[in-house]
Amino acid sequence: ARPYDPQKVEQVLNTAHALYKDTNAGANADYIPALAKVDSSLFAIAIVTADGQVFTQGDIDATFSIQSISKVFTLALAMEQQGSEAIVDKIGVNATGLPFNSVAAIELNQDRSVNPLVNAGAMATVSLLEGDKTQQKWQSIATWYDQFAGRELAVMNEVYQSESATNGHNLAIAELLKSYDRFYGDVDMNLDIYTRQCSVGVTTKDLAMMASVLANGGTHPVTGEALMTAENVQRVLAVMATAGLYETSGDWAFQVGLPAKSGVGGGIIAVMPGKFAIAAFSPKLDEAGNSVRAQRAIDYIADKANANVFSHL
Ligand code: GLU
Repeated sequence: ARPYDPQKVEQVLNTAHALYKDTNAGANADYIPALAKVDSSLFAIAIVTADGQVFTQGDIDATFSIQSISKVFTLALAMEQQGSEAIVDKIGVNATGLPFNSVAAIELNQDRSVNPLVNAGAMATVSLLEGDKTQQKWQSIATWYDQFAGRELAVMNEVYQSESATNGHNLAIAELLKSYDRFYGDVDMNLDIYTRQCSVGVTTKDLAMMASVLANGGTHPVTGEALMTAENVQRVLAVMATAGLYETSGDWAFQVGLPAKSGVGGGIIAVMPGKFAIAAFSPKLDEAGNSVRAQRAIDYIADKANANVFSHL
């Protein structure tokens, strides 16, 4: 593959940042009180190429909660532990087409299948992971995320406390799944672990680093560690491409054409397989829960890089 000209990449990141830094549409998530307090002017973009080059722009030292982007990496861990068939059978992989915390999504499906990238399926995916004690299971998730980030990450305690104190809706979803035998362990324990995973603090560079493993077929481009099989990478990317941006995933695929995942903390990752991963962060979200500036920045960069998995180029 042709290596990227660093100057050109810097320039594209620069322009993307300049173009959208004054975009003010959207609003911070506020159903988790700690998220409403985050400085909504923050804006950062990072790229990590499949051969480990790193490019950054904007508020690159800002740490924010990973939120739903964690779902990608927990899904990856579950696939590595149990195989992808277990995910199809026990969770489901079809897009729900509904909001991230939809109860209707569970009720509407005859077989109660949900998607691992929305709350119901993500909590059920946590319940599938090996380990019967909170500490043991949490440790395996935390270590796994650290391997993707290439450094030790930490839970943002204020976010964790805030989300734990306001978690009734997720508890209801988990109990409902359990009543249909579609939840695979203790509800309180697995909900707590899920809440911790959503509260992990990351920088935009951490996110791009984590996603770069998916851009590089499962091997970390910087640490060289082999983390996932190429087959599982392909399957995780397929779920991202169809369900990564909540109920606007179809619009995103149509407009941008890159497997991606957003979180209500304001982060989004996107992957061009074999080439690079982009991460962008800014707290203000659209109605579906996707960062407005992050979507625009990634759209712009993907366009400039001719990166679209549906393109013949
Ligand atoms: N922790 C959030 C929740 O469970 C994650 C939502 C998201 O980022 O989509 O509501």
